[in-house]
Amino acid sequence: MVTASKVNLLNLSPFELGEFFTSIGEKSFRSQQLLRWMYQFGETDFSKMSNLRKDLRERLSEICCICAPEIIKEEKASDGTTKWALDLGDGQVVETVLIPEDDRNTLCISTQVGCPIKCVFCRTGAQGFNRNLKVSEIIGQVFCASTRVGFSLNQEQKPISNVVMMGMGEPLLNLENVKKVCEILLSDYAFALSKRRVTISTSGVAPVINKLAGNLDVALALSLHAPDDALRNKLVPLNNKYGIAEVLDAVRNYLDKSNANCGRVTIEYVLLDHVNDSVEQANMLCRLLKTIPCKINLIPFNEHEDSEFKTPSRARIDKFYKVLFDAGFTVIKRTTRGDEISAACGQLAGQVKNKLVNFNIEHRVE
Ligand code: SAH
Ligand code: SF4
Repeated sequence: MVTASKVNLLNLSPFELGEFFTSIGEKSFRSQQLLRWMYQFGETDFSKMSNLRKDLRERLSEICCICAPEIIKEEKASDGTTKWALDLGDGQVVETVLIPEDDRNTLCISTQVGCPIKCVFCRTGAQGFNRNLKVSEIIGQVFCASTRVGFSLNQEQKPISNVVMMGMGEPLLNLENVKKVCEILLSDYAFALSKRRVTISTSGVAPVINKLAGNLDVALALSLHAPDDALRNKLVPLNNKYGIAEVLDAVRNYLDKSNANCGRVTIEYVLLDHVNDSVEQANMLCRLLKTIPCKINLIPFNEHEDSEFKTPSRARIDKFYKVLFDAGFTVIKRTTRGDEISAACGQLAGQVKNKLVNFNIEHRVE
């Protein structure tokens, strides 16, 4: 349970944790010890933090807490994909998904409860938007998943080796918190993930991508889904505000200043049957992306009850893939994982309860 009067240390970036210790008259290096206890050992009980003075342990128990969300449901698919529903304590629930693969275990985390962008094919978007997640609620997903699969100091075999912000919500509309979460994920004293193993996926909030350039260096994925503005305006409503050219310029700017992900952006393209999956559209996509260093992830649409779109046939997906491949692009056909537990891309919904907030994007990008 979150105790209102206590400082929840999971809300603090590594820098802020140092400031916190200074503010209580301690040396800032204490933050490194705390980060280790929290994120490498999963320890939440100050009295067990043996390398801290006894009086400091007692003081910390009085004024702060390490309060992660509570796991209220765990579902496991036959392919090993696991979905956890987390109770945020105010009637809100978010979902987070672990996808095991041969060479990595990827945790897909949420950054908002619901999403205000409302892409027409996305289940999260169809649920509406309620609120941004706090740092403790975002990093808390990695923390909670680690309590199930293990915390680790072992750099070679981490139980969670990759984190992607591809769950519920648009990460770049919760920039301040997302940035702090990335700092915790990358910190050597915390999860110590390499920057190419942390990915922010965005629907294309161009000014925020520009703002990130040079300020944060993690892998970037752009959810493109259409080769031209006319179609993208319909699929991703944000495109009416920031069109494809503006978004791709911002991505170029980001890549110029980043060396995560080998200087490439991942282009995500959800294939919707007879909407954006023709050979002609594949050719348009090749022309559009020819000057962008990228790899393309083709994601066959995951059908769900909130949408009428259909998954294309295997033959249509293969044809689309071939056009891109023959043009020299690195293309990946993503296999659907965790479909039976609604844990696949775009199937996360959680419970967006209470009043839906009318979210004004303009106010979030200042
Ligand atoms: N808001 C961010 C990140 C979360 S969505 C973004 O849009 O990038 C993560 C990915 O899932 C996006 O590429 C999104 O387009 C895709 N997605 C959403 N609904 C989907 C569905 N029903 N089937 C397949 N992919 C979907
Ligand atoms: Fe939001 Fe991403 Fe879903 Fe679009 S695809 S509604 S941006 S979560």
